[in-house]
Amino acid sequence: MEQLLAQYAANPLQTRGRNHVESPPVARSEFQRDRDRVIHSAAFRRLVYKTQVFVNHEGDLYRTRLTHSLEVAQIARTIARAMRLNEDLVEAISLSHDLGHTPFGHAGQDSLNTRMRNYGGFEHNMQSLRVVEVLENRYADFKGLNLTFETREGILKHCSLKNAATLGKLGMRFIKRHQPSLEAQLANIADEIAYNNHDVDDGLRSGLINLEQLTNIPFFCEQLEWVRSSYPNISKTQTNHEIVRRMINVSITDLLNTSQRTVDRIDPSSVDEVRALEEPLIGFSEPFVEGQLAVKRFLNEALYRHPRVQRMTEKATEVVTSLFDAFIEKYDRMPDEHAQLAHQSHKETGIPGGARIVADYIAGMTDRFALQTYEKL
Ligand code: MG
Repeated sequence: MEQLLAQYAANPLQTRGRNHVESPPVARSEFQRDRDRVIHSAAFRRLVYKTQVFVNHEGDLYRTRLTHSLEVAQIARTIARAMRLNEDLVEAISLSHDLGHTPFGHAGQDSLNTRMRNYGGFEHNMQSLRVVEVLENRYADFKGLNLTFETREGILKHCSLKNAATLGKLGMRFIKRHQPSLEAQLANIADEIAYNNHDVDDGLRSGLINLEQLTNIPFFCEQLEWVRSSYPNISKTQTNHEIVRRMINVSITDLLNTSQRTVDRIDPSSVDEVRALEEPLIGFSEPFVEGQLAVKRFLNEALYRHPRVQRMTEKATEVVTSLFDAFIEKYDRMPDEHAQLAHQSHKETGIPGGARIVADYIAGMTDRFALQTYEKL
């Protein structure tokens, strides 16, 4: 297997290792083991009831964070295999990249961040790392999932310099302005491809946006015209899907071709050489970056700021903020296990310690559990 990897791919035999030393896995690689641990984690199962744009109870047809993560893994693996990068590692990163997300997508994370402002803030990226390093509490020998450096490096897509300074080796690249592995770079962009396209897809299905609006985006217009002229008699559902699947395909092809050209030109001889570079090697072509920006701008205006989505955002803010205030006021409003942790952390480091446990508890909630808890309080 390892011979099939490119020289610049992350090699599980040369992993920078795990925080807690373990014996090597049998019949699978270190990165496969990481992926498997993610799949068996409680945080991964909860992704099924967490949303990106639409709240979970809105309808069963929309993406959840779980299906989103699977789509990211699919896209990233396709490109990884074509570029002879490590497919297991991109899969492990893709499946774990959103583990730290709060309920209700970005609205939830923003409200939690606001409430945590004086206690160290809240970043979903840092929280994903916290989930795999601390919060998953299932193994006898260690805290968290004890994943390899490479998977954790990929999970930490971005982070403030202040946070980076507290993360040791993992935070170094933000301070030195270095890059992560190509697998990490790839999972990051696969995330973008997945959500841009599935948000268009979900947006169309929900009726909040329509095909006519897409004609203003050159990128989509091309596919729309092609599909309409090739298949004038197909249903609306088929039309939507034919456009979106073409969009994903075009995105993957551009990313693959552009990245492979860049990698061939720079020709790094190892993953460490990739890490030492100032610029990432995985990326779209210039015109494609422009196109993607147009899609993002459109989604921002037409979908994310749609009055119906806006109402959900307001509700989410209200729920998360109220939960935080209620728990901070009285830790015992949380279940025993969390309340005890909060009291203990509070004793050690004051309110910031207690607040962090409250944030962990809220961030771990699914959309519906957060709503239920809010109603009860
Ligand atoms: Mg994501």
